[in-house]
Amino acid sequence: MTDSRIEGWGRTSVVGQELSFDNLEQSPPVLFRGLGRSYGDSSLPPSANPVVVNTTRANRMLAFDSATGTLRAEAGLSLLDLHRTLLPRGWFVPVTPGTQFVTLGGAVAADVHGKNHHVDGCFGSHVRRLKMRVADGRVVECGPDLERELFLATVGGMGLTGQILEVEFPMVRIPTPWIWQESERVGDIDEYIEKLKESSAKFPMTVGWIDCLTPGKHMGRGILMKGRWAHSHEAPSKFPSEPPNLRFPIEAPEWLLNPLSIKAFNFGFYWKHLQKKREGIVDPFSYFWPLDFVKDWNRMYGRRGFTQYQCVLPNEAGPGAARRFLEVLTKRGGASFLCVIKDCGAESPAFLSFPKPGISVALDIAIRNDTQSLIDDLNEHVLKEGGRIYLAKDTFTRPEHFRAMEEKRLPKFLAAREKWDPQHRFRSAQSVRLFGDAP
Ligand SMILES: Cc1cc2nc3c(=O)[nH]c(=O)nc-3n(C[C@H](O)[C@H](O)[C@H](O)COP(=O)(O)OP(=O)(O)OC[C@H]3O[C@@H](n4cnc5c(N)ncnc54)[C@H](O)[C@@H]3O)c2cc1C
Repeated sequence: MTDSRIEGWGRTSVVGQELSFDNLEQSPPVLFRGLGRSYGDSSLPPSANPVVVNTTRANRMLAFDSATGTLRAEAGLSLLDLHRTLLPRGWFVPVTPGTQFVTLGGAVAADVHGKNHHVDGCFGSHVRRLKMRVADGRVVECGPDLERELFLATVGGMGLTGQILEVEFPMVRIPTPWIWQESERVGDIDEYIEKLKESSAKFPMTVGWIDCLTPGKHMGRGILMKGRWAHSHEAPSKFPSEPPNLRFPIEAPEWLLNPLSIKAFNFGFYWKHLQKKREGIVDPFSYFWPLDFVKDWNRMYGRRGFTQYQCVLPNEAGPGAARRFLEVLTKRGGASFLCVIKDCGAESPAFLSFPKPGISVALDIAIRNDTQSLIDDLNEHVLKEGGRIYLAKDTFTRPEHFRAMEEKRLPKFLAAREKWDPQHRFRSAQSVRLFGDAP
């Protein structure tokens, strides 16, 4: 077996082996990996034992009840394949992240959230059963009412409690496969947050992009998007066609991404929305997964890649939390093409699930020599505000920052992990960095 480069979506990599079998006895310690769409090092193996088991071949739908929508499927099934089968029949996942290239196992392990978090919570809140293979080789079932501790440690637990083999959850009946969308240009960050919260009371799905480079009065100006499933009398009668298969052609040189080009992009994106308000029907591909239109778009960040910094700033931080965050970012010269702000609803009982009531801010940051110190500063700030970061995106957070952010919940997660995997047979580059696992 030859070694190859195993990358996170942000292009941080480890040289090692990607196996497609799952004989735990042959390769301990081990890490399970879906489609590798987590940005940081959560789907990368520890450097001293660089082996991952790819789960994507086990991707069958096992049972679907068309009366209730209950689906049981193998964990390697991608949202893309699931929707190709069930969307034309009027079913959609209860929660989708911003890409369809995600397996069910990855969606559970990261407890992914979408534009509907303020209404429907995370993916894990809809899961009724997981079938898992745990460290001693047993296959066990868990859920909100069965082996609850294992379940709460696995949802959002980044693959550290065992292999998720099967996932059972209800699909959602939708009136049409089209979205009614309203979008609005907003002049600064305070107006953006006010309108985001107002819109969340009326719309089941909200999201927005802000310009995090313009300082002063217009800081955080952006485009707010709100949506709901369209009713049959509003929507086209045909099924929406899938987008063309484009690819980012080259590994871009580092100089391409500089404060000027990023500023130009932010300016153009903002003014592309010429009218102050727009409304109409859009297809689900552009609404939920616009980044999937260009495969390998992460090559735009060149060889060194990028990190996504995503944090939640809780309601307790009080008014102005988003502005204060942007001030720290701009003072440090942090530049991002994409800054996405979402509304977050209630916290899940899962021990390490990311969202809590407040707003989530996500920034793509090209990796440069000062990235570690930028992330350190952002983390210090987020800690003061009572917030936390999202493990599925993280590559740079220091263990002391993570422990401080997760002071209350982390001991529960670690105790459950200790019970189900006392030898830490399941480890990742991230668990080595944050939890002090042996590399
Ligand atoms: C363009 C883009 C947009 C995104 N938008 C969002 C968003 O809106 N909301 C959001 O929450 N996330 C978002 N993400 C992040 C993504 O949803 C998560 O990182 C998700 O976990 C990726 O799934 P995957 O199958 O690629 O898993 P991987 O990245 O391969 O693995 C992620 C984690 O899951 C574990 N894992 C995977 N499969 C199994 C299994 N069978 N058993 C046990 N552990 C397993 C791995 O060990 C790892 O810790 C986005 C990512 C991209 C690239």
